Amino acid sequence: MATRAAEQRENAGQSAARLAAEGVQNVALTWVDNAGITRVKTVPARRLADAVVRGVGMSPVFDVFTSDDAITASDHLGGPDGDLRLFPDLDRLTPLAAQPGWAWAPVDRYDQLGVPHPACQRQFARRMAERAGAAGLDVRMGFETEWVVTRAPEGHQPAAVAAQEPLDYPCAGPAYGMTRVVELSDYLRDVTEALAVQDIDVLQLHPEYAPGQFEVTTAPGDPVRAADDVVLVRETVRAVSARHGLRASFAPSVVAGQVGNGCHLHLGLYRDGRSLHRTADADWGLAPDAVAFLGGILNALPALLAIGCPSPASYLRLQPSHWAGIYQCWGVENREAAIRLITGAPDDPDGGHAEVKTFDAAANPYLAVGAVLAAGLHGIESGARLPAPQTGDPGTLGVRERARRGIVRLPATLGEAADRLEKSAPLHEAMGPVLHGAVLAVRRAEEAHFADCEPEEIAAATRWRW
Ligand code: GLU
Ligand code: MG
Repeated sequence: MATRAAEQRENAGQSAARLAAEGVQNVALTWVDNAGITRVKTVPARRLADAVVRGVGMSPVFDVFTSDDAITASDHLGGPDGDLRLFPDLDRLTPLAAQPGWAWAPVDRYDQLGVPHPACQRQFARRMAERAGAAGLDVRMGFETEWVVTRAPEGHQPAAVAAQEPLDYPCAGPAYGMTRVVELSDYLRDVTEALAVQDIDVLQLHPEYAPGQFEVTTAPGDPVRAADDVVLVRETVRAVSARHGLRASFAPSVVAGQVGNGCHLHLGLYRDGRSLHRTADADWGLAPDAVAFLGGILNALPALLAIGCPSPASYLRLQPSHWAGIYQCWGVENREAAIRLITGAPDDPDGGHAEVKTFDAAANPYLAVGAVLAAGLHGIESGARLPAPQTGDPGTLGVRERARRGIVRLPATLGEAADRLEKSAPLHEAMGPVLHGAVLAVRRAEEAHFADCEPEEIAAATRWRW
């Protein structure tokens, strides 16, 4: 133990020296709460070794914080007592290109005796990735980040006033239009440059459908790394935006009624280094384990919505024919299916994968990857199947035709999704009672908080929260 602590201290000392050489003075240690908010403690870079060996204190009450900073309680968590230790992961220690003098690292949370905190979302994600590994599966994941950029209002604005401001878009061009890239070319270059310097492997950046909306996609990899990446991407976009006098909203519904921001989760399944998406003579090219894994996700989607679409605002986004995947169905390259099977270029051995389209950026990404892995693995254990793929937009079919095809709408409210998560035995088992209970308590509190609000009020109140 003593040797391990000495080794950790030495590694942290070397990291701190590197940071000092790069002019870094402070390190932001982040974790994401159950409401999807990235919370932080910061330490001076010269104290990094202490943080790595002893952790940094933070209350467990944050597990029952809601997105409006109110505090609820679960059977296991809540109240002012107790403390946890945040341990930075030095493997992800990254100087922040758009915040000179700052570095970032994600943390794992333990109790004061060094026992993993049962509600630590990042360790949940890691446990599920290890579970997949023990089943011989290598699951490579990556998120898409969508955001809407507006001009920051002049002067200091209290949050409540800023939420009511009419949005002032810095680009006027059409959806997916080159005009937007020209109008904001310095800004977009700075976003990609900052990400590249931070070792984020950007695949694409493009204007999206809604006014002022853009998207960046990053290369898939280890699931915990994918969740770390989406946090880093978001904070980088936010910081670059601020340096350009702009503001980025990652909220599921920036303007009620318009196309929202998704945070789609891509996943590719491999065994022994070979993709399970491109096998010959199999259903849709999928190996049997891939069918069962995706079938498990499809079956669990109503419960998974309480993880991937965690805010009442999420349900403003989930409208038919908005490319948000609101029906419990899958399809080959169908952008209205909740699970889109992507075939990729014929000569790309890694091109085949699947995309869960329904999730948004209010989701805690660690919970999202952990819960999707748990659902997929349960699919393999229980021999889940995939029904026939859907073509076309289920939203344009009549009620009877949808019923004939067996297409069911996913939960249309947070309360309904929470009910499904509450009853999900596989997700309860995978998350454990403390994490499962805390997530449910937060969902119930958010549902109650916004119960009497109009869509516009919910969108305005949550627009700048994530
Ligand atoms: N903005 C859409 C959403 O709410 C997604 C558009 C796309 O397919 O990338 O998820
Ligand atoms: Mg998109």
